[in-house]
Amino acid sequence: MLLARNAAACENQSSCPPNKGRFDFFRIAGVEVFLHWSWFVVAAGNYGTRPSLPLTGLGSAEYLALFLIVILHEFGHALACRQVGGRADKIVLWPLGGLAFVEPPPRASAMLWSIAAGPLVNVALLPLLRF
Ligand SMILES: [Zn+2]
Repeated sequence: MLLARNAAACENQSSCPPNKGRFDFFRIAGVEVFLHWSWFVVAAGNYGTRPSLPLTGLGSAEYLALFLIVILHEFGHALACRQVGGRADKIVLWPLGGLAFVEPPPRASAMLWSIAAGPLVNVALLPLLRF
């Protein structure tokens, strides 16, 4: 959900996930995805939290669905950045969303495409999410 130009741009921002406490989650297409430990704390807090359907785990299912959507959103940023010749090799996921570490070429169109591609993934997912 958050786009940083590079890792250094995020070092002093309080909205960025901390560097410590994250671990390798998986790697696809040369993009390493890290997960912060606090994600599990929030996931545990969401387990079975649907008041109308107690103990169904639907709260967890919703949390996992949101997690998947955030991953796809961040890959939208990363792959768009690569498409225009930029560098994108790391995504960090934490309870407040995700962060794609991208470094697009210094052109306005490349920057715009790298930024817009994440939300466009969400738009593309809309028909699938209407249930
Ligand atoms: Zn985004």
